Amino acid sequence: MQDDINDTSGSFRDRVVTMNAEGKRNWIYANKPKGTYYNARTWVSTVLLAFFFLAPHIKVGDEALLLFDILHRKFVLFGVVFWPQDFHLFVIGMITIIVTIVLFTVVYGRIWCGWTCPQTIFMEMVFRKIEFLVEGNGVVQKQRKRNGDKNEILWRASLKHTLFILVSLIITHTMLCYIVGADVVKGYLLGSPSDNVSVFLAMMILTGAFYFVFAYFREQVCSLVCPYGRFQGALLDANTLMVTYDFKRGEQRGPIKKGEDRFAAGKGDCINCGKCTTVCPTGLDIRNGIQLECINCTSCMDACNSVMTKLGKPKGLVRITSQNNVTEGTTFQWSPRIVAYTALLVTLLGVLVVLFSLRSNFETTILRVQGTLYQDLGNDTISNIYNYKIVNKTNTEKQVAIRLLSPQGAVKLAGNDLLLKKQSKLEGAFLLEFDKKTLTGSNTIIILGIYHNNELVEEIQTTFVGPDKRDK
Ligand code: SF4
Ligand code: SF4
Repeated sequence: MQDDINDTSGSFRDRVVTMNAEGKRNWIYANKPKGTYYNARTWVSTVLLAFFFLAPHIKVGDEALLLFDILHRKFVLFGVVFWPQDFHLFVIGMITIIVTIVLFTVVYGRIWCGWTCPQTIFMEMVFRKIEFLVEGNGVVQKQRKRNGDKNEILWRASLKHTLFILVSLIITHTMLCYIVGADVVKGYLLGSPSDNVSVFLAMMILTGAFYFVFAYFREQVCSLVCPYGRFQGALLDANTLMVTYDFKRGEQRGPIKKGEDRFAAGKGDCINCGKCTTVCPTGLDIRNGIQLECINCTSCMDACNSVMTKLGKPKGLVRITSQNNVTEGTTFQWSPRIVAYTALLVTLLGVLVVLFSLRSNFETTILRVQGTLYQDLGNDTISNIYNYKIVNKTNTEKQVAIRLLSPQGAVKLAGNDLLLKKQSKLEGAFLLEFDKKTLTGSNTIIILGIYHNNELVEEIQTTFVGPDKRDK
């Protein structure tokens, strides 16, 4: 919250609002927002938090709903297992998410930051709410710090920080569930720390990092550290929808004076009450225009709307709109940049859908054993030896067979069918035998088929080495 709500000197352009002229931290004592937008944010956050804490404990069949097991290179998205062989899908998926966020930013500003970013959700909807509960509203906290009872300050701070550490521990353990699985984490919790010293230490360090971020560093993550926040200057333009103060309607700002005709006095609708600044979690005054630190949380809109309602004036002095709408009165326009991002996003989504639909349950590699030549078995029969690797990506045991599709020849494999355990890979070798007459030269293209339940599931093309035609 800014101390001086009449600061029109422009000094806010010289430094981030969380630092004073000496470079020291300005602690933000934000008041609790109230209103339609805050209620909507609370609902959105509740759903997202419930998902975050419950998802690792939900199973789809035998698999977790979500798992990012980096150590074993196994990723599970909504019960579907992805292997390193599916890495291209993962990369395209990530690019699609980034383009979606960029497109949303170009059109809707930092809606991601204020409404769905984990940092904001944990800070504003978990830790800040605990703070309001234990220490009261921002204005009360500030007064208590100035001239409050020392014992009361101490017990409230102790309680708050104990709760912060507890919540940080829960977050850390939940995150670990996403990496190693909830059952493994349960095992860690039931065991002694000495059984898994490295995991225990890593968890303590992570918990400490979360506690530090949410208890002390707070809004500085958005203002100083987050790379996405740094990109805003390049992504936003005058058409972007953002939380904006309608200076044409609001200025000249000034307090209400009894019996005064504000219009005749050249005053606008802003009564300079400062309510919009007291609820801002990043300490901004939205009336200073678009600022890098604004996370579009809409708290200032709620605050100003309640003031306008009390004054009997239309809501929306601070509203979600574009700079062009305020200055020129224009509505949303499709800029070439938005068209380009949208086209890219649609293309990426199309590619992703096609690749997902083509994703096979099996992944087979067949290679002729390196350094080997053909073997002449007599009776005009030539053989080559091959290595195979078949990955079963499904959650059930599968029986598969390798058959020759062209040209005519024989696959010599120990046993007819191969049994693949669920989510496993099977490696081995087999012989291919051909009649010399079938071969087209020293390198004959051959096509093998992988069959499951007598159904062709994959075709593999490779070569067969035989004698040169001139040697015959
Ligand atoms: S200026 Fe308004 S929208 Fe921006 S961070 Fe502050 S309260 Fe949220
Ligand atoms: S809450 Fe509205 S009226 Fe009050 S200072 Fe902010 S913009 Fe002006």
